[in-house]
Amino acid sequence: MAQVHIFNAGPCVLPKEATEAAINAIRNFDNTGVGVLEISHRTPGWEKIMEETVQLWRDLLNIPENYKIIFLGGGASTQFFTVPANLLNKKAAYLQTGVWAKKAGKEAKLFGETEIVASSEDKNYSYIPKGYKIPTDADYFHITTNNTIYGTEIKEDIDCPINLVADMSSDIMSRPVDVKKYALIYGGAQKNVGPAGVTFVIVREDVLGHIQDRKNLPVLPTMVDYRTHIEKDSMFNTPPVFAIYVMHETLKWLKENGGVEGAYKRNCEKADTLYNEIDRNKMFVGTVAKEDRSRMNVCFVMAKGYESKEADFMAYAKANGMVGIKGHRSVGGFRASLYNACTLDDVKALVKCMQDFEKQNA
Ligand SMILES: *Cc1c(COP(=O)(O)O)cnc(C)c1O
Repeated sequence: MAQVHIFNAGPCVLPKEATEAAINAIRNFDNTGVGVLEISHRTPGWEKIMEETVQLWRDLLNIPENYKIIFLGGGASTQFFTVPANLLNKKAAYLQTGVWAKKAGKEAKLFGETEIVASSEDKNYSYIPKGYKIPTDADYFHITTNNTIYGTEIKEDIDCPINLVADMSSDIMSRPVDVKKYALIYGGAQKNVGPAGVTFVIVREDVLGHIQDRKNLPVLPTMVDYRTHIEKDSMFNTPPVFAIYVMHETLKWLKENGGVEGAYKRNCEKADTLYNEIDRNKMFVGTVAKEDRSRMNVCFVMAKGYESKEADFMAYAKANGMVGIKGHRSVGGFRASLYNACTLDDVKALVKCMQDFEKQNA
């Protein structure tokens, strides 16, 4: 098989070390002779993996003791209603920076008043709104730090006068984060920390247990209450064992490779390399405001005059081993996702494709 370069938006490329370890564990978990797909989640060997995985999260993101880390099923989309179910008494505020943010806000409406503080829908979410005012009477302010589909990113931890909640599905572990600035952080693992099937939630414990004021709504179902999972260390029911195992191996790899600081350096270099080529190459143009460009998802289209070459470039890139660079249907063109396990060599291979294509066609 010829070499491939995986730029999938999610599920995405994983470190070879993690997938190799997973293959071995399917055959034989922890020298038990039983595969990781077949073990009981109550065996001591598994409990050790759970503890280590939580510790890896704590170490990699410097998560303080008063924050709990839980692993759930259901994807980030399930958190769209689980967050308001646990936190929304009267009102929630949302920053609308893409369809994921919009979907999150839609679920909040089921639980109370929802204020859209600002939106970039007017320009197909090609920028991050600025200068908005966060209402201080809201229970929390929800942001989507990286907009996977559009390629915009809130690259700093913002100051927020109320509880800040962030969907970090597609930029978690890509840069250092000051966890203390957030009340809750969640995301699906499949963009940067593992395979599909497990969702992470990091929550400051004191924000839970305050929904008694909520009128006309049922009590929290047991499985929806974060405290259920905190109390049982994510083992109230069967956790997504295999997905957690691969996440464990992925985070171990990250720790051995400079941690989040190391990933951040590599991610900056990868993103700069690709954006520099987009800006230099006369056949391509970026789709979002430069200051809001995502380091994780790089979106670009054919420049004016070259629109008819889109299918040709797609075919050329594919023939040269590029995988997953087709843009989302709501943006079109191309999207290269540069998550942690994507290498600078992968990016250089894509850049070379763009340069060669320009030489042959411009
Ligand atoms: C992919 C994605 C989601 C949806 O995640 P699921 O795990 O598929 O539910 C939500 N938010 C963001 C920012 C995403 O990138």
